[in-house]
Amino acid sequence: MRGITAFSAVAALWLASASTGIAAPSLTVLCGVDETWCAAMKTAYEAKTGLEISVTRKSTGDILNQIRAEKTAPTVDVWWGGTGDTHLQAGSENLLEPYQPAHERDMLPWAQNFFAMSGGRSAGIYAGALGFAYNADLLRELKLPAPTCWKDLTDVAYRGRIQSGNPNSSGTAFTTLATLVQLFGEDEAFRYLAALNRNIERYTPSGAAPIKAAARGETLIGISFMHDAVTQKQAGFPLVIVAPCEGTGYEIGAVSIVKGARHIEEAKRFVDFALSPEGQGTGAASGQNQVPSNAKSTLPLAAPDISMIKMVDYDFATFGSPDERSRLLRRFDAEIAATN
Ligand code: PLP
Repeated sequence: MRGITAFSAVAALWLASASTGIAAPSLTVLCGVDETWCAAMKTAYEAKTGLEISVTRKSTGDILNQIRAEKTAPTVDVWWGGTGDTHLQAGSENLLEPYQPAHERDMLPWAQNFFAMSGGRSAGIYAGALGFAYNADLLRELKLPAPTCWKDLTDVAYRGRIQSGNPNSSGTAFTTLATLVQLFGEDEAFRYLAALNRNIERYTPSGAAPIKAAARGETLIGISFMHDAVTQKQAGFPLVIVAPCEGTGYEIGAVSIVKGARHIEEAKRFVDFALSPEGQGTGAASGQNQVPSNAKSTLPLAAPDISMIKMVDYDFATFGSPDERSRLLRRFDAEIAATN
């Protein structure tokens, strides 16, 4: 009886897909970058291979949580984009499949180091510095001073006028948390976050939301990756982008294959495409401004020059560890988010 029921279910699914003409996707990708780039990558990959793939945008922490929850029956093949320390956390939890990509030899040194650090489970696809940006029209209208440092953001003048992501879901915001800990030391960083919290209007689930809100004048200041702010500025919004005076952190965006992926060969092909100059070119072509990891890729003209920014020596090993992530997030929830 159970066999007949199972057979009927499969037959019903087959009939449904045959009658609707919808084929099951040959690859399922969760995408951590901006929606525009997710869509451009899907289009480019489908045009190249003639296959239909599923690409869904999610915030980085949400992707990690989904892959964890589906550990025994993964529905996702590839995790493309999103901050690298979160990929490293997944790798440490044995959720990712090692793979040596075809283009690894063409990677810039920071990407080669990242690949080695991940134990061959995650490859770096882009880099970008963290910062913040403010809406210049609104700042002028409100007659407020221009912030140039992290510490300026705690000024009472900006009460309720700053947005940042929630580090539980947003990779951007987890990078912010880890950056502040590395810049100031943990206790001082949490004192800073408590002071900043008084000025935070809200913590958004996605890391890109604060900069989009600042661009549209819905808030004054958004904390985000600088390349995200460049994209909004290029779209004509009156943003001034700040590399904070104390220094800042950066991300290495990554791609990984999920352990137990149902379409493993197609997943490897997608990773090779993601690391090729052609695949990386989909970023600039869709208005993105990260620094690509392949030395043969073309650098977007407006990409922030990360060599000119005062940068912490970001400790990916420490902040890519699941224990450190959980500990910092627990402390953030208890001491900061609970009082917002
Ligand atoms: N958008 C861009 C342009 C990024 O570079 C990244 C990080 O890799 C993200 C979004 C991450 O999004 P979230 O902070 O929602 O996880």
